[in-house]
Amino acid sequence: MLNSMWKVYIDGVGAGVFLIFLGARLDLWRHRPERLVHLWLAAVAFSALIVNFTAVFLKTTDAGGYPIVVMLNYIGVAGVVVSLLELVFNLAGSTPPRLIRGLEFLLLPLAVLRISKSAVLIIVAVLLLATLFKAVKSARKGDADARVVLWGLAVLLICLVSDIAQKLVLVNVPHLFPVLGFIVFFLLATHAVNCHLAREESAARTDPLTGLLNRRGFLELSRLVVSMAERSARSFSIIMIDLDHFKRVNDEFGHAMGDRVLQEIASILLRGVREQDILARWGGEEVIILLPDTGVDGANALGEKIRTSVEKLETWHGATPICVTLSVGISEYHRGEPLTDTIQRADNALYRAKSSGRNRVEYLAFTDDTTSAGDLIQ
Ligand code: GH3
Ligand code: MG
Ligand code: MG
Repeated sequence: MLNSMWKVYIDGVGAGVFLIFLGARLDLWRHRPERLVHLWLAAVAFSALIVNFTAVFLKTTDAGGYPIVVMLNYIGVAGVVVSLLELVFNLAGSTPPRLIRGLEFLLLPLAVLRISKSAVLIIVAVLLLATLFKAVKSARKGDADARVVLWGLAVLLICLVSDIAQKLVLVNVPHLFPVLGFIVFFLLATHAVNCHLAREESAARTDPLTGLLNRRGFLELSRLVVSMAERSARSFSIIMIDLDHFKRVNDEFGHAMGDRVLQEIASILLRGVREQDILARWGGEEVIILLPDTGVDGANALGEKIRTSVEKLETWHGATPICVTLSVGISEYHRGEPLTDTIQRADNALYRAKSSGRNRVEYLAFTDDTTSAGDLIQ
């Protein structure tokens, strides 16, 4: 009696946990519908919930009398298998091959109609193998998130297989196993999905070549500085940098060498700025820096420091040193103006530095003629 009560408690706790995971992931998906990975994790939880309820029902009643519950149980199993597969492929940024997709679509009607139990079992086994195969492949490529999911899958499958083995009276395992397997899987998969999304978010704001922020990352971070400057007496400056005659470096030494020069300059810039400064690759060989709480004098000093450091830099191409210089344009934010205008002024100052001979720092004050450029920020 006590034993069967414990079984009910365990299934009840399992259902509660699945429900929590389902609600949490659906909520996340509602806010970011493009992130299908939330939906697939929710689908695993929902399917596990169906399997849980129907299994408890079938265990406590006469299965033959409730064919609809048996059918729902099959659908739950199919749902778990399909959503696990989609989750793993989604995390890897790919879609299942056509044959596997075909089997997924075949599984649902077979589970509903229950024409052939063995056909359902074979498809379930094939889809699980495809899921494991994909997870192993991604993990071997060095995908840390896939490795975590793989551990989760391994624990889940061991728990489910031992439960099936128990049903066939081969071994004696605790009733807790399937619920435990799902809980371990959800915890590990949640961790992997969160890490994966955080990595994706940061990649969307980072320039892959230099590791600096990209334009999008710059604009997002600068929004806060601009709104603070609007409401207070604190100003900020913009430094716009463009490498001089960089096309020649590519033409003479090749694009790969040009990339290396860009990387070295990026690391000089990173070392030169303060933590609160916002440094980003603005375009091909153009870099922008927003200096919070900094006036034109501070910006000029940094611009000059950057200019001289890069001037001294030698990037070696075999025995040939490659030397580059850069031109710098500076502007200071004028309260009330849009950020695009401050950036445009720095760009105009940069143009002035170029036309006055390059390898120099120029400043353009607000009173100077500034052409507004709303299309600067795309
Ligand atoms: P200046 O700015 O001094 O007027 O001359 P420039 O030759 O630097 O000017 P321009 O803007 O015409 O050319 C920029 C060059 O930068 C062209 C392009 O080949 C190179 N470039 C842009 N992005 C990259 C990149 O990611 N890697 C490499 N290697 N080169 C790049
Ligand atoms: Mg240039
Ligand atoms: Mg340029």
